[in-house]
Amino acid sequence: MDMSSSMTMGGAPTDGSALNASGIDFSNSTQAADFLGEILDDTVFQVDGNAAARHFWYGVCAVIALAGVANLLRRGKAVMRLRAAAARKARPAAPGNVITTALATTTAIVREATYPQFLPRGGLAGRCLKVPPIGTVMLLLGYWAWVILLEFVDNNVEGAQHFTSLGVRAAWLAVAQVPLLILLAGKNNLIGFVSGVSYERLNIIHRWSARVLFFLATLHVIFLHLSWNAYGLGPLEYSTDSCIPTGWAVYAILIWMNISTIAPIRNFSYEFFVVQHILTFFGFIIAVMMHLPDTALYSRTYIYIPIALYLFDRIIRSGRFAWNNARPVSATLTALDGDVTRVCVSSKAIKKWSPGSHVLLSIPKLGLGQSHPATIASTPTSHDGDLVFLLKSHKGFTSRLLKSASTSSVSILLAKGGSIFSQSSSVGKTKYTALIDGPYGNTPDFATFDTVLLISGSTGTTFTLPILLDIAARAHGPRLPVRKVVFVWIIKNTSWTSWINRELTEAAGKLRAAGVELEIRIYVTCDNKFTTGDGNDNISGGPQADCCACDTSLGPCCCVNIDSENEDVIRPIDKDSSPAAISEKATSSITVSDSQSGTRSSILPCAVFHSGRPDFFPLIGEILEQAEGETGIAVCGPMGLNAGVRGTVARLSDMRAVHKGTGAQGVFLWGEGFGW
Ligand SMILES: Cc1cc2nc3c(=O)[nH]c(=O)nc-3n(C[C@H](O)[C@H](O)[C@H](O)COP(=O)(O)OP(=O)(O)OC[C@H]3O[C@@H](n4cnc5c(N)ncnc54)[C@H](O)[C@@H]3O)c2cc1C
Repeated sequence: MDMSSSMTMGGAPTDGSALNASGIDFSNSTQAADFLGEILDDTVFQVDGNAAARHFWYGVCAVIALAGVANLLRRGKAVMRLRAAAARKARPAAPGNVITTALATTTAIVREATYPQFLPRGGLAGRCLKVPPIGTVMLLLGYWAWVILLEFVDNNVEGAQHFTSLGVRAAWLAVAQVPLLILLAGKNNLIGFVSGVSYERLNIIHRWSARVLFFLATLHVIFLHLSWNAYGLGPLEYSTDSCIPTGWAVYAILIWMNISTIAPIRNFSYEFFVVQHILTFFGFIIAVMMHLPDTALYSRTYIYIPIALYLFDRIIRSGRFAWNNARPVSATLTALDGDVTRVCVSSKAIKKWSPGSHVLLSIPKLGLGQSHPATIASTPTSHDGDLVFLLKSHKGFTSRLLKSASTSSVSILLAKGGSIFSQSSSVGKTKYTALIDGPYGNTPDFATFDTVLLISGSTGTTFTLPILLDIAARAHGPRLPVRKVVFVWIIKNTSWTSWINRELTEAAGKLRAAGVELEIRIYVTCDNKFTTGDGNDNISGGPQADCCACDTSLGPCCCVNIDSENEDVIRPIDKDSSPAAISEKATSSITVSDSQSGTRSSILPCAVFHSGRPDFFPLIGEILEQAEGETGIAVCGPMGLNAGVRGTVARLSDMRAVHKGTGAQGVFLWGEGFGW
């Protein structure tokens, strides 16, 4: 065969015909090397690959633009509602014309489809797998589908270059993931700015883009090996191509980065995870730069962009960090019941944040080089403008916080006296120098809903309390759309109410004076599983299951029968009752009418106490039934709590045919989980 008619030496066929091995003598090293060069020639494929990478980004930009439009609409709606309420218009949080009604109907359909979250129950999957809500799953499936389409559609080259074409396309798509990966990792990122979604909520897409990158790199490795191994040219390729060692270096780093981010490994030692993650990221960037072939050096644009994005984020963070901490910031620690530390930070620089925001808190003396996310439980107008945090003790930094706070006997005494959260005296409390990065977070304005339901478990109240405080403070200004607030707090022990009892009492007073209805429902579970996710399932068995450690003279707990006929009576459950009986009683007390029952206690007169876990279906159903406009629900707690509320909201919205001619008003849900 006359090869010169269809091929150039060291190049692919110029006439578009398929490259084949006929006439090649593989025992001749020159011919074998030339043929290998022809197999790997990417002159045409790099143009297609570059186009696929660009198309990938067109898709990403389209999604970001869509999220940006949704964000603008959300903000616009909030402004219109605030104006309508201030102008004393009726039902400011309900759609008022055909366009807003059509939008509300579409929104309700999307929410019903995207809100639910299914959690694997029991076993290894139950412990290790974190399945995100369906909306996130759909977004991720769309991401995968888009990448797979771009990889395989219109990429079926005949002949010896079949796998080269697939491998080169995979490489271009892989390198195109790097800017997205970095964009989603930054605390100050463009996607968050446009979409109004804060970095910690985008983190899941960051992790999945790393998995997509790993998948594409795997395709690249497999396809290229198939292409040269089909002709037994593997040894020649390995001995002559400098891309092989750099390629394996990139791939090895990617494998490690993906394995080390799996939740159980990441959680094993978070500090180690962060340090090695940053170091391996730099290693990855260097290895990729070395691996990208000389024939397509312009593909390095996809690496230069992330470097610029990374530097941009670091510069903004460093500038803000310097501004926040230029003047000394002091933190006062107080030990509270339930292994929680109250941290009160006086900062001259941070005077503005929105409810639900968090900061990265660092107290060098208790953890050098560590910074931990903590939600600001106060608002700029409460607590003299101080930032107040409630941090549950775990094994590391938070346990050292608690230990330091506990060494001050005075602080313990104060804590036992209650109302510790509001104590302004710093006598006897431990003071430390603190460093603050932030604030971060972008929670919607809950004052713009007709009815607000705030649900939290344990320290999850650091997310819901500032929303309540914010509404209470603003209720005395121009009229707000919000008519009713229901504050649901699930705690293990009645004594935990001391964390925030004064705040709740003050908020209740302010809201009632402003004519906004407030219900505070406290559910005492004696069960860590539902409040903190710790999995200490006392009431379902085990040696401590007889009863909890609550001081039943203080008020209700799961070991106390609520006499709904006479709400002043608190009757302890017989301590000899079997765990199963206690569990049964706790469960059977939750009926459709449960949301109306409960008891009041002198420890927090503005609240109604319930024993056991809330049944969200009747609770939320009743609230939605009475709403005259959109209901806003915020939930913060362990994943089981979030998933339960998500499922219930989606089910109720569907059952009530929201904005589909029944008159039922919309319901918005915002879930926080203190993790990523
Ligand atoms: C946005 C956000 C807001 C939060 N707000 C609060 C709050 O208001 N109150 C509260 O009690 N807790 C809050 N947390 C959780 C809190 O940050 C962790 O419990 C704390 O960092 C654990 O520190 P540790 O060293 O004692 O943990 P360890 O005992 O070492 O680990 C316990 C768990 O915390 C995780 N963790 C440890 N360090 C960090 C870190 N620097 N960043 C992220 N996760 C980490 C670990 O992966 C592990 O899952 C919040 C978390 C996030 C993501």
